[in-house]
Amino acid sequence: MDPPTPVSDEAWPAPAVTGRPVEQAPPPDPRADLRADCGRCAALCCVGPAFVASADFAIDKPAGRPCPNLLDDLRCGIHDDLRGRGFPGCAVFDCFGAGQQVVQVAFAGRGWREDAATASAMFDVFTVMRQLRELLWYLVEAHSLVPPGPLRDAVERWQERIERLSLGGPAEVERIDARALRQEVGTLLSSVSDAFRAGSHAAGPDRRGQDLIEADLRAVDLRGASLRGAYLLGADLRGADLRWADLLGADLRVADLRGADLTKSIFLTRPQVQAARGDTSTGIPPWLVRPAHWPAGPTTVSRRSRSRPAAGPPAAGGSPGPR
Ligand code: SF4
Repeated sequence: MDPPTPVSDEAWPAPAVTGRPVEQAPPPDPRADLRADCGRCAALCCVGPAFVASADFAIDKPAGRPCPNLLDDLRCGIHDDLRGRGFPGCAVFDCFGAGQQVVQVAFAGRGWREDAATASAMFDVFTVMRQLRELLWYLVEAHSLVPPGPLRDAVERWQERIERLSLGGPAEVERIDARALRQEVGTLLSSVSDAFRAGSHAAGPDRRGQDLIEADLRAVDLRGASLRGAYLLGADLRGADLRWADLLGADLRVADLRGADLTKSIFLTRPQVQAARGDTSTGIPPWLVRPAHWPAGPTTVSRRSRSRPAAGPPAAGGSPGPR
């Protein structure tokens, strides 16, 4: 028997029973504001962070200096070929909407080119804001995983608190201890995951934090497993069943997800999917967009032909998550 569908407040309203059918708009996407809107940002991610030449970035770049590929109009000059030009880390990166929040809200539309002090403050605020927005992304999902009760109440309290913090001015945001917040929210997300997976009737193995680099996990039943923070870099997950598995912060760089079922995996993010390999046979949750670089049809590739980045911290977009 399939595990129950997660409790969700995103469900469509019940149809009208009598009279003319009522046309109702779909409920708003609670993640809509947590997606990057580069048109309302000022290329903060192309200037603020430092790059280290690696499989993710073709060059070294110090923090606070514009990337040489950044055009005067703040667009990327190699946007259509980031991977081919050696910048897959940029293709993977996701600010969870922090960029537009910093520029439009915290700095009221100002840009980093106005003066050095503004630029420095803006990049510092961006670093904190990205973490806040990522936590909100996880909390939106956590809210859909547990029924009304103490755990959901705790999720709502944290959502309200972090929403409030992310509306602060530059000085207030800069003072936030993001690390402490991540730890506290991480503990809550762990409780949500445990409760959800225990109720799924498919509670799988606990492999959180395990070194599964290049592990052969082909067609393995990982339903309901905890893979939180697991190192799955280059792992062969072809045909694996990852429904109801907790993938929070799992390093999926170059993991082979062809034929894998992640349609109901929890705490999976865009950067993780973007960093992995897949094709049309890979099942992903409906709120994630299938990566454009994944082949349009099922593919077959020999394991030996796979290239992998060196093990180490994830690229800028591959946040380890609030473990
Ligand atoms: S390569 Fe493009 S997206 Fe990446 S930092 Fe440079 S300008 Fe930005």
